[in-house]
Amino acid sequence: MTSHLDGNALAGPLSELFRDDMTIATGRCAHCGDVSVLAQALVYDAAPGWAVRCRACGEVLMVIVRTGERMMVDLRGVTALEVPA
Ligand SMILES: [Zn+2]
Repeated sequence: MTSHLDGNALAGPLSELFRDDMTIATGRCAHCGDVSVLAQALVYDAAPGWAVRCRACGEVLMVIVRTGERMMVDLRGVTALEVPA
């Protein structure tokens, strides 16, 4: 793997999709069950998007791709996403 950023790098792209700061959302890894806030994830910034990997097992949690005016999110590596009320 190449060098990575921490999950705080997701603040910009996720704020375009969700109204709240999603870096404080808690996600459960579908691969190992680790539960942590997104800010602790490993983020690989590779245009045209971001690959987000689990801090515990390194598997892919989500992929965010920006194409022109659209943004797509693949969340198949997250079994639960919890946002503080
Ligand atoms: Zn994991």
